[in-house]
Amino acid sequence: MRVSKSFIPTLKEVPADAVIPSHILMIRAGLIRQLSAGIYSMLPLGYKVVRKISEIIREEMNAIGGQEFHLPALNPKEIWEATNRVEAFGDTLFHVKNREYVLAPTHEEIIAFHAKGNVTSYKDLPQIWYQIQTKFRNEARPRSGVIRGRQFLMKDAYTLDATLEGLDEGYAKHDMAYRKIFDRCKLNYFVVGASSGAMGGSKSEEFMVKSEAGEDNIAYCRETGYAANVEVAQSLVDAAKRHADSKKIFEISTPNVKSIDQLCEFLNIDETETAKSRVYFHDEKPVLVLMLGNEEVNEAKLQGILGGQVRPAHEEELKEISGADAGSIGPIGFKHKIIADLRLKDANNLYSGANKNDFHIGGIDLKRDVPELEYADLRFVKSGEKTIDGKGTLEVFKAIELGHIFKLGTKYSEALGVNFLDENGKENPIIMGSYGIGVERVFACYIEQNNDEKGIIWNPNLAPFHVQLIGLNMKKEAVVETCEKIYKDLTGQGIEVLFDDRIDSSAGFKFNDADLLGMPIQVVVGERNLKENAVEIKVRRTDVREMISLDILTEKVKELLSRLNE
Ligand code: ATP
Ligand code: MG
Repeated sequence: MRVSKSFIPTLKEVPADAVIPSHILMIRAGLIRQLSAGIYSMLPLGYKVVRKISEIIREEMNAIGGQEFHLPALNPKEIWEATNRVEAFGDTLFHVKNREYVLAPTHEEIIAFHAKGNVTSYKDLPQIWYQIQTKFRNEARPRSGVIRGRQFLMKDAYTLDATLEGLDEGYAKHDMAYRKIFDRCKLNYFVVGASSGAMGGSKSEEFMVKSEAGEDNIAYCRETGYAANVEVAQSLVDAAKRHADSKKIFEISTPNVKSIDQLCEFLNIDETETAKSRVYFHDEKPVLVLMLGNEEVNEAKLQGILGGQVRPAHEEELKEISGADAGSIGPIGFKHKIIADLRLKDANNLYSGANKNDFHIGGIDLKRDVPELEYADLRFVKSGEKTIDGKGTLEVFKAIELGHIFKLGTKYSEALGVNFLDENGKENPIIMGSYGIGVERVFACYIEQNNDEKGIIWNPNLAPFHVQLIGLNMKKEAVVETCEKIYKDLTGQGIEVLFDDRIDSSAGFKFNDADLLGMPIQVVVGERNLKENAVEIKVRRTDVREMISLDILTEKVKELLSRLNE
């Protein structure tokens, strides 16, 4: 492709609303433009990258026996109502106003719909169905460019199985395919254990890249390789002390003391002598969650333990449930279910709210005073804590989710009546798995990990073009002729070349543009070197330049490209 005839609107300036490197560079390099908040157009150069990523995904999905579909984005609302997901997605689901349609945020329902009545026997199973298709989610805070869009491309795959062993196999195949995909994309990633959340599945793992722009937190241990989303991560931490002598319960006036910090200051005690209360509703029944000191409730863990519908209580609901407002609630005299974090197991001499505004209670012995109390791991792990096996130390950092593999089970097949006959002629719901990759996220995350102050650094597998051919002075006949020959020779060998053939641009301008666009190899044709029958080659990643005789140029480019792919 010739730059003079291409639409590659590069920018020198950093766009005002872009903060993270990938977002800035995707705009500056003319790969994308925003149409509206969270909605982006792929420009020709950007779309080439999307196609390359999609093709890698397609090849690896086909290699595990995946069959490619193309399902409609416009879905009848009733099928989403049948699985309760209009409610579950809430404001994230886009509704089409003049019809009872929604824009699909994912496709479990539609896959189940097509399986129903068509995949009817164990002999028809297993199946792996996938597509690379546009999804719609009304994300509350679209940001970081295409990393969180309202419209985005997802590779979503679904396994249909007769047995749990079959599901395990399908899951393992996707795990392997995902590793190959992200390896071919040259991404640095972690595979982390994840929460199955409200989706109701049994096992789930996420493929994550470390990034300050991430909205997930993952816990990772260098020594043991342990990696998990903090939603599920566990660590080895000390429980609160159980003192030899248990004090009696006493009430104290604590005017205007609302937080654990204020309580500790007021009483001059340590955080570990206090228990914080948070009220939730579980299937519309109140539950008090007790945490040690200032620790936050890990709602994903709570959801996993309680199941069903879990939501925090609203401020105005608290008084009726407990008799007090936030800041004065506690386990003593609380009339509903209580569940406590494991660090509080059998703790005594604790302070907590008195269920009476401006009062707290001391001398609480959970073993004695709340004998029926249930304990569970409900906390977030923190950097510096020991791994659960005690063999290493955790660090917690922000990460972006590239992909997700998920054992769904029978939630959707049961809701939609998708059954098959087993070997004994018995009817069972089909067992499903679901597996997603965000195509634009792979794109952006690659740039997050591969850039410098000058621009993007592409790897040959994802680069829009392998080579940027730069004619330095396109008014000189020798330069033009040589460029044309190189262009023809390289493209003839299947090498993709972006030819900067602009006549009126300066050398400096062309070099800057080439570094910004970041094709793996630059071939620079200038008058001076031509006198020695040579051109200059530059490897974008290393910035290493070399004079190469024209006679061996094609071979040299091929060799460099294959080396860069290693
Ligand atoms: P997140 O927690 O980041 O919102 P998710 O858990 O909602 O992700 P899934 O429903 O598992 O994501 O979707 C599968 C994949 O689709 C994700 O791993 C991610 O790569 C991609 N994806 C999800 N939401 C978006 C979005 N708003 N924009 C771009 N890609 C997305
Ligand atoms: Mg999401």
